[in-house]
Amino acid sequence: MSKFAWVTLATNDRYALGALVLAASLRRSNTKYSLHILYTDGVSASMKSQLFSIFNNSTKVDILDSNDSQNLALIGRPDLGITFTKLHYWRLTEYEKCVFLDADTLVIQNSDELFEHPEFAAAPDIGWPDLFNSGVFVFVPSKDTYQKLVEFGTQHGSFDGGDQGLLNQYFSRWRTMDESHRLPFIYNVTPGSIYSYKAAWQLFGSQVKIIHFLGSSKPWNFQDQQQGQHWEYWRQIFDEDVAGNLSKDLVNFGQRKVDYF
Ligand code: UDP
Ligand code: MN
Repeated sequence: MSKFAWVTLATNDRYALGALVLAASLRRSNTKYSLHILYTDGVSASMKSQLFSIFNNSTKVDILDSNDSQNLALIGRPDLGITFTKLHYWRLTEYEKCVFLDADTLVIQNSDELFEHPEFAAAPDIGWPDLFNSGVFVFVPSKDTYQKLVEFGTQHGSFDGGDQGLLNQYFSRWRTMDESHRLPFIYNVTPGSIYSYKAAWQLFGSQVKIIHFLGSSKPWNFQDQQQGQHWEYWRQIFDEDVAGNLSKDLVNFGQRKVDYF
């Protein structure tokens, strides 16, 4: 077994669909490393069998809620409490090092060099670049770190109610750490940022390696379908690598013919 793994999380069938496309994009990138999915009871049996067929390994986890509905309501995303579940990653001690990817990310080009970075490494958040975005990060599984994170979370909560706030508080020295901890933006590019800085996109766009469909519109919500090459690439991978293996209901969900949920 590879000592390095890409790790993602899905707590329901929608995010599982994202995870399937993400896994297919990693396979297309010819990664040398394993793919590991964390999932919860919220994922249906048929979706689980799809996940097990593309991911090398899986772990079932319980949802850790931040019990902080007030803060979550403040940022308008009550669903993010669930992402406290992300702390479970540190328990994957069968690996020496992992890279976490949100299920709403897409790997455009091989990014195996991310595993050369130390814990903790992440890219800036476009909303507040002195903080990191927790959709892509390098970490070293450790029972000890897991315990400390849980204790820290229980004691301090999270300033935004989600995992990004908690991880930024815990790894609060990130901004001033040396450059190996600060991932280049090409590893966590959010489409909104492309449209807000078109000239930079023209100059650097071809170097982009990982796209992150951050925010409330996701590529698997086909009614939200936005224009742009990366939305199209997500859809292409869905059509070519994922849809053919799904049951009729799930394909219909993907193509919006029936209201699956
Ligand atoms: N997630 C999940 N179920 C949910 C919400 C989130 O599995 O109901 C996982 C999934 O891996 C997702 C990540 O947590 O990509 C972070 O949430 P999201 O990507 O929606 O947050 P954003 O990047 O838009 O802030
Ligand atoms: Mn995300």
